[in-house]
Amino acid sequence: MKGIDGLELSPRKNEYLKYLLEKGGMAHTTDISAHFDLDPSTVTKAINEMSSTGLIEHMPYRGVCLTPRGREYATFLVRRHRVLGLMLSHYGLTPREACSEASKLESYVSKDVVDKICKSLGHPSMGICGRITHDKCCCCPDDE
Ligand SMILES: [Zn+2]
Ligand SMILES: [Zn+2]
Repeated sequence: MKGIDGLELSPRKNEYLKYLLEKGGMAHTTDISAHFDLDPSTVTKAINEMSSTGLIEHMPYRGVCLTPRGREYATFLVRRHRVLGLMLSHYGLTPREACSEASKLESYVSKDVVDKICKSLGHPSMGICGRITHDKCCCCPDDE
């Protein structure tokens, strides 16, 4: 993921990407708006803005689909959430609190910082709300 610092998108757009990943990489805009309880036009507008980033493609009648780069980015977003949640749980927060606090702050934590925290935690494989995956370029940049 060269040239990405993790701060490119708004918190809500990050949530859309994670939702798409959860759905296997594709969803209809109406599914997204229903899931987030938003007006479909709000989602369509955001999706159109995001199409220009190369992370998603909007295919008429089929829906919104993650590109390979978008999938990689969304995978990073999930790792960021889980690494931060795990870190917070080490400071006395319950798993539920840690997960919720991580959701509030994650979009403002750069990839570089997440990689450093991930490394300092020993690249954990389990977070408080799911598995943490580590790809070579995320966690071991020297090997690239
Ligand atoms: Zn969580
Ligand atoms: Zn790692």
